[in-house]
Amino acid sequence: MSFLDALRKRKKDETAVPEAMIQLGRVVADASRCVQCGICGYNCPVGIPVRDYARQGLPVSDAACISCGNCVNVCPRGTLRWETQAHVIVMDRFATQMGEMASGD
Ligand code: SF4
Ligand code: SF4
Repeated sequence: MSFLDALRKRKKDETAVPEAMIQLGRVVADASRCVQCGICGYNCPVGIPVRDYARQGLPVSDAACISCGNCVNVCPRGTLRWETQAHVIVMDRFATQMGEMASGD
């Protein structure tokens, strides 16, 4: 799906899906993988300096982010990933289950 198709789909979906369910997520980074090449920010359509977030291991919190995912796709080091609320819930469950297995509950 092209970037424009994704935007059109998102716009269309917004009319059908309750606002509370449109949690698109955010870009998060593993700073230990970032080589500060700048490809992410260079390919950001709204000019966010993604590298500055990535090298510090911070999530992209710029309000201008349109959630296109370009930065994640172009990073040659796999530094960036898309994190949604669903991912956070799944990781919490996984951590809980691993804790229970370790304690024998
Ligand atoms: S493209 Fe990847 S490795 Fe390069 S600066 Fe951005 S996050 Fe770091
Ligand atoms: S998701 Fe898109 S708009 Fe947001 S920082 Fe990455 S490239 Fe820029």
